[in-house]
Amino acid sequence: MFDAYKENSALGSFIMIDKITNSTVAAGMIDFGLRRATNVHWQAVDVDKTVRADQKSQKPVVLWFTGLSASGKSTIANLVEKKLHALGKHTYLLDGDNVRHGLNKDLGFIDADRVENIRRVGEVAKLMIDAGLIVLTAFISPFRAERRMVRDMLESHEFIEVFVDTPLDICEQRDPKGLYKKARRGEIKNFTGFDSPYEQPEQADIHLHTGNMSAEDAADAVIAKIEEKYLSS
Ligand code: ADP
Repeated sequence: MFDAYKENSALGSFIMIDKITNSTVAAGMIDFGLRRATNVHWQAVDVDKTVRADQKSQKPVVLWFTGLSASGKSTIANLVEKKLHALGKHTYLLDGDNVRHGLNKDLGFIDADRVENIRRVGEVAKLMIDAGLIVLTAFISPFRAERRMVRDMLESHEFIEVFVDTPLDICEQRDPKGLYKKARRGEIKNFTGFDSPYEQPEQADIHLHTGNMSAEDAADAVIAKIEEKYLSS
């Protein structure tokens, strides 16, 4: 808790103590807090989500792919995006690995970072929804609570949870990035399915069993599911 020095000298000043020597090494006064969120108001704009989406003859939605590493999220999301593109739809695919190269490159894989990773992706997806786009995301997103957090950020019909349900042993056989091999050798900590949990969706909007369906068929199933409600204006 703090305040600006000119408002309150007790809450607005501090000293720093070296924890080894116990001597006071610095003193400071607080000018203002960097987070001045109380002064930020929502700016109304005239060109809104509906107008932007109508121009594209579509309804904005997030297709949230979740599943173990190597379950097929990126592969299927990529195919769905290609099919949507061929139908003339305006899309954006947010891929877990790609986002970690930029926006989220400061985050690791401990639980707190995974939650922050998903929170930021949720906020970006929300902006893209506001732009009228059909957004596809491919993130392991292992925790039910974080997927719910994103669902709650959006309007209820704007979030479609797509469970890419592939058993761990099949994911481990596929292992396109060699991550399971590394995890087995103990070279990756907090690997989902091994020493970090994956909480399966209880009621996914779309449930894909990739163990017995091709990636192409899985992509067609996703398109069929959203066709009527989201792809026509
Ligand atoms: P994720 O994004 O979930 O980590 P990827 O899509 O990167 O997974 O990798 C899945 C791998 O499994 C790819 O090499 C893909 O070609 C392969 N694969 C084999 N069968 C399927 C299927 N039915 N659905 C999706 N991917 C499949």
